[in-house]
Amino acid sequence: MNIDLRSDTVTQPSQAMRRAMAEAQVGDDGFGEDPTVRLLETESAAVMGKEAALFFPSGTMANQVALHLHGRPGYEVLCEAQSHIVLHEMGAMAALSGMQPLLISSLEGRLDPGEVRRVMGCRGSYQPPVALLAVENTHNMAGGRVSSLRELQELLEVAAEFRLPTHLDGARIFNAACVLEVSAAKVAEGFDSVMFCLTKGLGAPVGSMLCGRRSFIDRARRVRKMFGGGGHQIGVLAAAGLVALRDGPDRLPKDHELARRLAAGLETLPGIELDVSTVATNIVMFQVRSGADSPGALEGGPAARFCRQIATIGVQAVALSSHQVRMVTHRDLSSEDIDQAVSGMHSMRR
Ligand SMILES: *Cc1c(COP(=O)(O)O)cnc(C)c1O
Repeated sequence: MNIDLRSDTVTQPSQAMRRAMAEAQVGDDGFGEDPTVRLLETESAAVMGKEAALFFPSGTMANQVALHLHGRPGYEVLCEAQSHIVLHEMGAMAALSGMQPLLISSLEGRLDPGEVRRVMGCRGSYQPPVALLAVENTHNMAGGRVSSLRELQELLEVAAEFRLPTHLDGARIFNAACVLEVSAAKVAEGFDSVMFCLTKGLGAPVGSMLCGRRSFIDRARRVRKMFGGGGHQIGVLAAAGLVALRDGPDRLPKDHELARRLAAGLETLPGIELDVSTVATNIVMFQVRSGADSPGALEGGPAARFCRQIATIGVQAVALSSHQVRMVTHRDLSSEDIDQAVSGMHSMRR
C-alpha cells in the first residue's frame, strides 16, 4: 500500500497534462512571446474576474511579489497569525521587502472583521504603518476552513475604511468556491490582487497565478524578474497549467467527499481526537493524544510518532506540531484508497 496523504501537491501530472506539455506551442516569455503562457494568463484573469494575470513558478513567489508591490520597507502586513505568508514562506516579507507581519489570531483561520477594525483603530503615529491586509481562503493551517462571502465583504469594507490594499492568498480558492457554491471570481471579488495555485487540488506539476489590475500585473512582471522568476519557453509548463485550470475545479467535490470519508474513518481510531464537523474542504486535521512519555518537541512528539507508525504500512501524513497531524485528499486517490488506509490504520492501532 502507498497512500500519500501529505499534501494535495503530491499528485502526478495526468496523461492529458503530459500530452499538452509535449505538444505545447512555445516562444520566449522574456519577450512576451509564449502563446501558451499568454493563453493561461488570459484564462486565469477571466476565471478570477481580474484584468490581467501573471504565471509564476510558485505560489510563494507570487504572494511575495504581491506583498512587495502593495507595501514598502518598514511597513507591516496585517494578516492571520497562522498564514502561509508568515509561517511557510521563509521570512520572505522581511528578507525581500523589509516588512513585518502584524498578526491577528483567529479561531478557524477566519479573520474577524471587527478585530481587524479594532487593531487598525488603535494604531498610533509611533507604530509602523500598515501596508495591506492579506487574507487566506481556504486557510491551510486551520485545516482548509472557508471564510464566507459575507466575512470577506466585511474585511474588504474595513480595509477600505483604512485605505488598505488587499491581497487574497487563494492557493485553494477553488476549494473555497466549491463549498460556497459560487465562482472563484466571486470569492476574489473586491481584492486588489489574488494568487491561486495550479499545483494543489488542480493537480499541475508547477505554477501559480497572480491576478489583478493590468497596471499592477505589469509591475509584477518586473518584480518577478527581480526575484529571479522570469522564464523563457515556459509554455511547456503553462500547458499543464491550462489543463489543470480547465479540468481541475469541477473535480474538487470528489476530494471534499474523500476528506469526509477519511475523517469518518479516523474518528473512531484509538488515541486520536478528531471533530468531523471541522472538515470543510480537502484537509483533515486531528490531534494525537500523548502517552505518559511524551516530550513536547515536534520531532519526538506523538504526532510525529503516529506518522512514522502509519508510514510502516504505507500511509503518509504530516505532523504539523507535537500533537497535530494533517492529511490531505487529492486527485490521485480513490475511495478504495481511503478505505484501505483507514482499515490499515485501525488494524495497526487496535
Ligand atoms: C501551497 C500554498 C502556497 C504556495 O506554495 P508554493 O509551494 O510556494 O507554491 C501559498 N499559500 C498557501 C495557503 C498554500 O497552501
